[in-house]
Amino acid sequence: MPEERTQHSEHSKGRTGPEDLRGSVATFDRVEEGATAIATLSTKNHEVFESRVRDRSHVCLACGQASVHRFLYRKNGCDILRCEQCGLGRAETMGFDPESYYTSDYFSGERPDGYADYIGTENILRREFAGTVEFIRKFRASGRLLDVGCAYGFFLQEAKRFFDVSGIELAEDAAEHCRRSGLNVFTGQADETLLGRLGTTDVIVLLDAIEHLPSPRDTIALLVNHLDPGGIIVITTGDFGSLYSRVAGAHWRLMTPPQHLWFFSQASMQAMATSLGLEVEHLDHPWKVVPLSLISFQLTRMSGLRPKRIAISNRLGLPVNLFDAMRVVLRKPSR
Ligand SMILES: [Zn+2]
Repeated sequence: MPEERTQHSEHSKGRTGPEDLRGSVATFDRVEEGATAIATLSTKNHEVFESRVRDRSHVCLACGQASVHRFLYRKNGCDILRCEQCGLGRAETMGFDPESYYTSDYFSGERPDGYADYIGTENILRREFAGTVEFIRKFRASGRLLDVGCAYGFFLQEAKRFFDVSGIELAEDAAEHCRRSGLNVFTGQADETLLGRLGTTDVIVLLDAIEHLPSPRDTIALLVNHLDPGGIIVITTGDFGSLYSRVAGAHWRLMTPPQHLWFFSQASMQAMATSLGLEVEHLDHPWKVVPLSLISFQLTRMSGLRPKRIAISNRLGLPVNLFDAMRVVLRKPSR
């Protein structure tokens, strides 16, 4: 793959700083994915070393180990690496700015990596979210609920039948849509200031949101501080350890950097939860009713064509389970 290597050496200066290479574990030279790793100390010739090294040493945000992160492949100009200890995947990006990324284009099919037509599929999404609310109520029947990354508030609309709800959303248009619909939604990131204004809560949900966060561990740690003892955090995200993800590799439907930056496995989710003092109370791979328009949108994208906006089939949905997405309930122990 000479082309990939050229790209790598062009960009490697900004991304692979000396601090990444300082650990002795970084002195591996794994030339190709799947090839036998031939460990060669090549620190003397730094240029050759830098252009050829693919594996890197990082402190993993999930398991907390300073571990070898194996280079898997490049996707959308990002290196995809996987922690050898716990299986957490990470996308290495250059200067990704979420605030300029999550605009209304993201939800309306204007960008090939976003949603086909989020608002147009409200009926199907609301039905799906009603099921999620039922699921959550098995663990906590009522109380205060915070949705981090609440988009247009469809989940909150279902949840408010049982919970006292509020939300945080980065996309201004979406947050404004929520407020016009009578929801208590703040525009911005889940930071100390915003969470301080919201106070503590009983349930926090991150539905397909954790993989978008610049630093998921820091955000979850912050959220734990604003969670009452005995409260729960509900997370849905892809399963990087799933069969589909492993077989599809760079073509996995959820392998969409720089939109998705983190790829959790069951083990990495468990490791991160434990290190933050949370108990994994439940983990499964739920069935999901997916709008036909989104299926068609993703199939078109995977075939390499540029997706067009689809007027039909927004009201139709299909039950789908590729067992490559997981739903996790984390509990903060009662004092
Ligand atoms: Zn790890």
